[in-house]
Amino acid sequence: MSEQRGAPEWRLETSLVHAGERAAAPRATPTATPIYTATAYLYPSMAELDAAFATGEGYLYTRYGNPTVAALEAAVASAEAARGAVAYGSGMAALHAALLAAATPRGETTSRPGRILAARDLYGSTTVLLDEFFMARGARVAYADLCDPDAAAAAIAEFQPEVVLLEQISNPLLRVADVATIAAHCRSVGARLVVDSTIATPVLQRPLALGADLVVHSATKYLAGHGDTAGGVVAARTGLLHATLVRQARLLGATLGPFEAQQILRGIKTLALRVERQCSSAARVATFLAGHPAVARVHYPGLPGHPQHALAVAAFGGRFGALVSFELAEGGAAVGRFADRLRLFLPATTLGDLYSLVSVPAMASHRELSPDQRAERGITDGLVRLSVGIEAPEDLLADLEQALGESG
Ligand SMILES: *Cc1c(COP(=O)(O)O)cnc(C)c1O
Repeated sequence: MSEQRGAPEWRLETSLVHAGERAAAPRATPTATPIYTATAYLYPSMAELDAAFATGEGYLYTRYGNPTVAALEAAVASAEAARGAVAYGSGMAALHAALLAAATPRGETTSRPGRILAARDLYGSTTVLLDEFFMARGARVAYADLCDPDAAAAAIAEFQPEVVLLEQISNPLLRVADVATIAAHCRSVGARLVVDSTIATPVLQRPLALGADLVVHSATKYLAGHGDTAGGVVAARTGLLHATLVRQARLLGATLGPFEAQQILRGIKTLALRVERQCSSAARVATFLAGHPAVARVHYPGLPGHPQHALAVAAFGGRFGALVSFELAEGGAAVGRFADRLRLFLPATTLGDLYSLVSVPAMASHRELSPDQRAERGITDGLVRLSVGIEAPEDLLADLEQALGESG
């Protein structure tokens, strides 16, 4: 529009609706991305609007693209060394989108239910998504221990999947996968590798550089980081997969809103600082727990006894993540009392916040699994998962000490 609409002869009701809106964008660039709430965009003429539709360039309608969401997508694409990224309303929407895109044959627009090989150790809802949603649509789903290199190679060769899905680092037992080796196995059978990197974050590892095809984040966790925003992001290694994600997101509509996008973009600015601090505090927590008589077993990739410790040392540049899981010596009976006695760790069903958190996977994240499925995955009733926050590590250790001391 060459000049602002708003004729002085308009009646009050009309001016109330239009006055002040649609000023030209300021010539000076704001230092931080504004929150663009507009659902649609204006062009100077119908011819230019038509051209925007024809080329797909420029903003038209918020589900097709929004400048605030695009800023977040650019930040994640940069963090993951991706060709592009697409943001969604939650981590589960992002996982759904990643699996659909990965199952879309090259050159086609719709996904085909195919063969999905998934890691046995997955976020609880992800297992349910595969079993209830993808299987019902005709996909064949198999599970294997993808943190065991021999088992991973055998399962990929035998099952000949179209899509392989794993979590780096796995939840809640914090196992580590060899992404580069699995990506090579995937290439040899033409499978696409999807890595849920919510827990590792790009601070520890960038899976696309190791040959993964798509990286998924529940942005609700470390990317946003402040326990106040839900979202998800998928980053793609190739332009083709990015284009598939964009097309399917427009159609399925699980896109992220601009307010959430701004909060997550803001969170990402301190991601490295938070994660470094959280990892170093988690290492102290793990060492403390490993030496405590009330603790039977600690799961933490930074401890020498962890089954993939050597791989984690080589892969993560000296950090091992900010989650620590452990089993109380007294088992499930002592879990409630221990968690109730904690004063600083919050008993909330999430992870990755700047607050320290405690959860009981059998009660929370893995509740929807059957007792058999939990047993198969090594998730005992006495398993406790800590998500270490940015507080002073001394205060965290003191809180654990008092809660464990009295739980005996
Ligand atoms: C939380 C989480 C999800 C799901 O994300 P939402 O934002 O809750 O939908 C998926 N994967 C992992 C590893 C998670 O921790």
